[in-house]
Amino acid sequence: MMDKPRSSKLRAIVIGAGPAGLMAAERLALADLEVDVYDAMPSAGRKFLLAGKGGMNITHAEEFPLFQLRYFNRQQDLARALNAFTPQHIREWASNLGIETFVGSSGRVFPVDMKAAPLLRAWLHRLREAGVRFHMRHKWLSFGSKGHHFQTLVGEIEKNADIVIFAMGGASWARLGSDGRWLSQFQEHGVNLRSFVPSNCGFNLDWSLYFQQKFAGSPLMKVGMSLEDITGESRSRIGQFVMSETGIEGSLVYAMSSYIRDLIERDGSATVFLDLLPDKDDERVLRELATPRGARSLSSHLRSKLGLHPVHNGLIQECLPKEVMQDIPSLAAAIKRLPLKIISPRPIDEAISSAGGVCFDSLNEDLMLKKLPGMFCAGEMLDWEAPTGGYLLSACLATGYVAGEAAARYASIIREQAIR
Ligand SMILES: Cc1cc2nc3c(=O)[nH]c(=O)nc-3n(C[C@H](O)[C@H](O)[C@H](O)COP(=O)(O)OP(=O)(O)OC[C@H]3O[C@@H](n4cnc5c(N)ncnc54)[C@H](O)[C@@H]3O)c2cc1C
Repeated sequence: MMDKPRSSKLRAIVIGAGPAGLMAAERLALADLEVDVYDAMPSAGRKFLLAGKGGMNITHAEEFPLFQLRYFNRQQDLARALNAFTPQHIREWASNLGIETFVGSSGRVFPVDMKAAPLLRAWLHRLREAGVRFHMRHKWLSFGSKGHHFQTLVGEIEKNADIVIFAMGGASWARLGSDGRWLSQFQEHGVNLRSFVPSNCGFNLDWSLYFQQKFAGSPLMKVGMSLEDITGESRSRIGQFVMSETGIEGSLVYAMSSYIRDLIERDGSATVFLDLLPDKDDERVLRELATPRGARSLSSHLRSKLGLHPVHNGLIQECLPKEVMQDIPSLAAAIKRLPLKIISPRPIDEAISSAGGVCFDSLNEDLMLKKLPGMFCAGEMLDWEAPTGGYLLSACLATGYVAGEAAARYASIIREQAIR
């Protein structure tokens, strides 16, 4: 069943009212299509609003070639979208909604009030003004013979339109609406998919009870982390993270999470190396450590000579055998390269984002499903990942933009063919 037509305009359905779906809806409405947005939740943009809780990074202001590198091995697949709707376009788009942005010291771009709610409010208002209709509590269930099946408060219904855009998100934080349950339906229709896995996530380690009780919640403010990824390339970054009860979490861990996750997938566990003193070179650490410590305990020696805190000492004791602790050159080397064995990722529901979903080889360059002409996909439901820092929303908005524009073009071609 089609929604009641309001005109002879072409009709579009967008499934998912997150940033990707809303951007697609905007492009479709601007192209003068009649747009109906369906979402399983009672209100739109729940994950987007959560992203605004701790200060939302809407995009990133680094040089564009560097920006593109953040999408790992999906740079090529995303290139068209990221070029069509760049970080600068995102800032202008937000500004047109009355939301000015600023570049933080790390290059991350924030709305001036750091929040997502005012932006979402203004955006939804503009979409409604443009004629977009919202149908909340409509959960897409399956492809039907005449349209798309939705679960609603009054039972199952079927809806159809000239074109459809799927923007049903990834599979983290399922309670906000994106649960990835659509995967099996897409698979049955010949779409290539990769199972969802956590991205930008914390990890489990085998902490001793002593370490867990004493240091859970303690941050490491400036530390290096390095590893050899599954392709044999060395990866390293400097940043901060926090000891959790079950392991480690925080921005540095999230930034390295895809490499760590892939190593665990391949080897069953992953070893990363921490540089506890990234501002001091190996020689200096050894020199300081080798000065006589007199009656001082090792931990107060480490503190007074190298500025190491109890959590550093705790980690050193947790990760090193006693013999290494007693041998100054080995201890100095370990402070610069402390091995940390990571057992498993935290559950996907806790992750900031997910990797996996619809594979790019199932889509044409317009993000239309090759096996299902007239149906497009956008946002986190596509198989790409990126670190936190504005890259996630950037690609969601950009793919929504491209899918919306391409779907509008496709619809008009269909109409012309029908008229001829
Ligand atoms: C805590 C947290 C903080 C974050 N902070 C940032 C940040 O600062 N910067 C950044 O770039 N990114 C951030 N992100 C990530 C960002 O919010 C997501 O990548 C983005 O929201 C994904 O957009 P999307 O439109 O693809 O999917 P979503 O936002 O997940 O929206 C998908 C929509 O589809 C609906 N849906 C799902 N299945 C169905 C169905 N079967 N039928 C109907 N509707 C359905 C859902 O209800 C949802 O409304 C954060 C994420 C989290 C969890």
